[in-house]
Amino acid sequence: MEIGVLALQGDFLEHCQILQALDVSPRLVKLPRDLSGLKGLIIPGGESTTIGKLAVAFNMIEPLRLFGQTQAVWGTCAGAIFLSKDAKSDQPLLNLMDIEVERNAFGRQVDSFEIDLQAPFLDKGNHKPFHAVFIRAPIIKSVNGRAQNLLMLPDGRIVAARQDKLLATSFHPELTVDIRFHQFFLEMTKS
Ligand code: GLN
Repeated sequence: MEIGVLALQGDFLEHCQILQALDVSPRLVKLPRDLSGLKGLIIPGGESTTIGKLAVAFNMIEPLRLFGQTQAVWGTCAGAIFLSKDAKSDQPLLNLMDIEVERNAFGRQVDSFEIDLQAPFLDKGNHKPFHAVFIRAPIIKSVNGRAQNLLMLPDGRIVAARQDKLLATSFHPELTVDIRFHQFFLEMTKS
């Protein structure tokens, strides 16, 4: 199986490494033709304004929108912002997920943090928490339409959401050694 990783900016190589550990071939996606035949695409963390500007420059906005209407797409952190319909900011967005996000909701780089979250949907029976890494992360302020809240911080703020074959996480599963979120997304690509 081959899964695309948007490689315009950000930590796409870390996603590639986890995919390889799962025996999946990552395909770096930079141009519209790179999407051809893929069943899933990961949009990495980085800087959402830069990813958006480069996507405009490479004529990727419309092809990515069309792709996300039928195939699985997962955005981590900046990728989640780029997937959203509303980021309260003047920047190119894919407008695919019916979520409203607030960028840099926890403050600056020095306010980055890590926390263990209970995520029972990741595995049946085994309730090992997921170690979530937040780096100048957004929160998902609201989930609307068909989008659903998947994971919250202990204070109730939403940090992961799903809408059919679209997945958004405020944090970076690619920066941990825990492969379960990537496995979860791979299952979504098959649905
Ligand atoms: N703060 C970045 C943004 O708004 C996201 C940071 C990240 O992806 N770690 O795009």
